[in-house]
Amino acid sequence: MPKKSAPSVIQLQKDARSYVWHPFTQMQEWEQQPPLLISRGKGAFLYDVDGNAYLDGTSSIWVNLHGHRHPTIDQAIRHQLTQIAHSTLLGLSHPPAIQLAKALVHLAPRGLQKVFFSDNGSTAVEIALKMAIQYWQQCSSPQPRKTQFIHLGLAYHGDTVGGMSLSGIELFQKPFSSLLFPGRHHVEAPYCYRCPLALQFPQCQIACLDPLETFLQKKHEEIAGVIVEPMVQGVAGLIPSPPGYLQHLRELCRQYHVLFIADEVATGFGRTGRMFACEHEAVNPDIMALAKGLTGGYLPLAATLTTDEIYSAFLGQPHEGRTFFHGHSYTGNPLGCAAALANLSIFKTERTLSKVQRRTPKLSAFLKTLADDPWVGDIRQCGYMVGIELVQNPQSKEPFLMIDRIGHRVAIAARALGLLIRPIGNTMILMPPLSATLQELKQMVDILKVAISVVRASKSAGGKS
Ligand code: PMP
Repeated sequence: MPKKSAPSVIQLQKDARSYVWHPFTQMQEWEQQPPLLISRGKGAFLYDVDGNAYLDGTSSIWVNLHGHRHPTIDQAIRHQLTQIAHSTLLGLSHPPAIQLAKALVHLAPRGLQKVFFSDNGSTAVEIALKMAIQYWQQCSSPQPRKTQFIHLGLAYHGDTVGGMSLSGIELFQKPFSSLLFPGRHHVEAPYCYRCPLALQFPQCQIACLDPLETFLQKKHEEIAGVIVEPMVQGVAGLIPSPPGYLQHLRELCRQYHVLFIADEVATGFGRTGRMFACEHEAVNPDIMALAKGLTGGYLPLAATLTTDEIYSAFLGQPHEGRTFFHGHSYTGNPLGCAAALANLSIFKTERTLSKVQRRTPKLSAFLKTLADDPWVGDIRQCGYMVGIELVQNPQSKEPFLMIDRIGHRVAIAARALGLLIRPIGNTMILMPPLSATLQELKQMVDILKVAISVVRASKSAGGKS
């Protein structure tokens, strides 16, 4: 067969507009600009089809850990390809899934003993919710009234109906209000950084956990679980919780017999400076959802971990119907599991966690150089998760009008300077790969600083871009 020549960049850009519908993207705006086509990556850099380099300031949407084209993960996937690309976990097993489950149980907070695989963060959460509901029906003293969940305000737990139901971001939920499940309650998240009482936890429990406790006192017999993003709410705009909050929340769950579900999809695998964010407060969840960094940012794979106690509630004769009837075609894909095993091995060989811990204060120091910028209202950081909130006036924290698209404009300006970064509203989310060097971290912050001033200059000149 004659070799087909590769399509030209112009053709690709045309086809990109004609055929692809992008996630979380207003396509009308998107269609007005030539799309940036990424064709290669190496370390902390991405390269477009014309060879221009960009620092990957989002870790390719919070997934990449050790850099692109890491030889250990590349090799592990290549090796797995010589064996098999996919075989199901429905009724069969395979070595990479078994080895990975064992490795995850050894790494995870104490008590998590069983691993249920899936393929993205939303499904990992959905599985956690279904597991919790069925557990209460089948545990040794069944409590079938426990069918409802509590989540924090502004939480984000994914885009499937379950995860979306327990998210607190109205903009994402509005068109689907008819689908959201009824048994969901939210309590305010602790916004200490902007607390009107200017108190520090635990003095400020009135605003934080007291309402939750009061609610649990009244309703705990109907509550299956509390779901939380440990230590920091990512999509909310990087909102860190105060020291002691997570542990206290965990204790309340224990006291009122509701399951504590940790959504570590964003925070897991070193992002916050610990392997899992729950470790910061020695918290052991009943269920933990993992995805994103699980394969080092290579392949879609997710896992929901749980305790032996929850697992045991699903045991019985097949005809009894106690089985967990949930699974996806690509659950525990062998290539993904091989990548994940290689990812975990790199944590050891490259001492990733201690590197992140050592570099985090240096990243904070680089970020401090943004503090004097007249648009920077807040800099929030938890390890390698950073939110830089842009406001009209840093004293009053008056936000920009959404119509001004300041966050988006800063991201576009940063792109022209060689940094890819994605805002959430007007908060610039910087999420560098854990392998980024100090020089690369500094460069990311420096570019962001220039990008902000470019947009400010354009705004004061009355420009739109
Ligand atoms: N939970 C949290 C905390 C997340 O940040 C995300 C994604 N940003 C999800 C769940 C959903 O993960 P995915 O995009 O892989 O479905």
